[in-house]
Amino acid sequence: MSTELNLPIDINNVKGFLAADEGLALYQYALEASKLGPCLEIGSYCGKSTVYFATACKQNDSILYALDHHRGSEEHQLGEEYHDPDLYDNSIELMDSFKTFRTTMREARLEDTVVPIVSSSAIASRHWATPLGMVFIDGGHSEEAAQTDYRCWSTFIKPGGILAIHDIFPNPEDGGQAPYNIWKLAKASGLFEELPTVNTLGLFRRK
Ligand code: MG
Repeated sequence: MSTELNLPIDINNVKGFLAADEGLALYQYALEASKLGPCLEIGSYCGKSTVYFATACKQNDSILYALDHHRGSEEHQLGEEYHDPDLYDNSIELMDSFKTFRTTMREARLEDTVVPIVSSSAIASRHWATPLGMVFIDGGHSEEAAQTDYRCWSTFIKPGGILAIHDIFPNPEDGGQAPYNIWKLAKASGLFEELPTVNTLGLFRRK
C-alpha cells in the first residue's frame, strides 16, 4: 500500500474529529476500493474525512457520495459537548455545517469528485441501487442512527469492497458503544473479513 499522502489543503485547518492515522488508513483503503466503484461516506460534517477519502477517489477518477443532513449529530447540538457556535444558524436555531463543507470541497478542488447528499441516511437510501466500492460510517452515534446506517448501506458494498466504521471503543469508558455495536454486527454477519483496526477506525473487507 502507498504511504504517500499529499492532501490538496492543510487538513489541520478543517474542523473535525478524524485522527491523522485514521485519515491515512481511509485514504489507503479507498485508493484500492474506489477502483471497484463509487464510494460513500455517511457523516461528512465540515469535510475533513471527505478530503482524505475523496483524494483517493479522485486518483482513480471515481466518485465519493458525501451524505450528511448537516444539522449536526447529537453531540453537536446547542448546549452539547461538541457544539460549535460557528456552525450554528441563529436565524433558524439549527446547526448548518453544509456551507463550511462546500468551502472545504472548493478549496480542496474536489468538487468534481464529491457529490454531496444533504439528507438523512434512511431517506437517501430508500431508492439507492448503486453498488459501492467502499462505505465509511461516521454518522450519528445514537444506537438507532448507527444501526440505521449499517442496515441501509452495508448491503451495497461490492465483493472485495471496504466497510469502515469510525469511533470504535471496545471499552465503554473510552466512548459511546453504538459504532462498536455495528462493528460487532458486521463481524458476526459472516459477510466480511475483519481487517486490523487503526486507532478507532474499524475496517472490514466484503467477502
Ligand atoms: Mg467520528
